Amino acid sequence: MNRAYHLCMHSFSLTDDERAIYEWQLWVQGFGEAGQLRLKQATVLITRCGGVGGTLAYYLAAAGVGRLVLAHAGELRSSDLNRQLLMSHAGLGKSRAEQAADRLRAFNPHVEVVPIAENISLDNAERLVAMADLVASCAPLFPERLHLNRYAVAQGKPLVDCAMYEMEAQLTTVMPGRGPCLSCLYPSEPTAWQRQFPVFGAVAGTVGSLGAMEAIKVLAGLGEPLVGRMLLCDLATMAFRTMQLRRDPACAVCAGVQSASRAP
Ligand SMILES: [Zn+2]
Repeated sequence: MNRAYHLCMHSFSLTDDERAIYEWQLWVQGFGEAGQLRLKQATVLITRCGGVGGTLAYYLAAAGVGRLVLAHAGELRSSDLNRQLLMSHAGLGKSRAEQAADRLRAFNPHVEVVPIAENISLDNAERLVAMADLVASCAPLFPERLHLNRYAVAQGKPLVDCAMYEMEAQLTTVMPGRGPCLSCLYPSEPTAWQRQFPVFGAVAGTVGSLGAMEAIKVLAGLGEPLVGRMLLCDLATMAFRTMQLRRDPACAVCAGVQSASRAP
């Protein structure tokens, strides 16, 4: 559990309406009202909120995470609509961050949604990561992932990294000081990374759903997050496997970083 979750534990409680909405997950063993309160007092930064991040945000809103910060620049294009489920055809040409926020507020008014019409850059990454208890990295561009990773490690925040290509998806979770960070795995930016690539919306939704589950687990202290492991999903064959990852003791970002939080 992150030290931030100790804050204000006693000043939060669930309303009757919230207990009714979350009833089915309150029955999950090891979760209960204490887990729900941890979600309620958490803030998650999601960048971006398209096919992957939009699905991830949808499920975090459904689960009752108290505050969602959505970082996503630009306006909706027709080619977004095969995977970006928070959008609508009527929203073509309009802000994606605002549309995503409107949809999530309508879906669960108990969740505070903060749309920010910016993509992650060196200029804003530190500030945006500082707003959150956990970062969900769903950006198509690799430099954005590495900026998020750098500041998540520096601020001791967990980071869930979701990626996809064609019919493949991959997922890992960085817990600073407890396992490898993204820079341990990718000391430099991969050269084959593409801004636009072939993919089905259902692949984006799969990895977004898995990423949401990782975030819920880390925030609530449930199960075993993918720390030091990467889940590789081949949706062409439906083969799912988990690969062990190693921390690089010479990593430019996380070498010498100690865990600031106890095991979830
Ligand atoms: Zn590292």
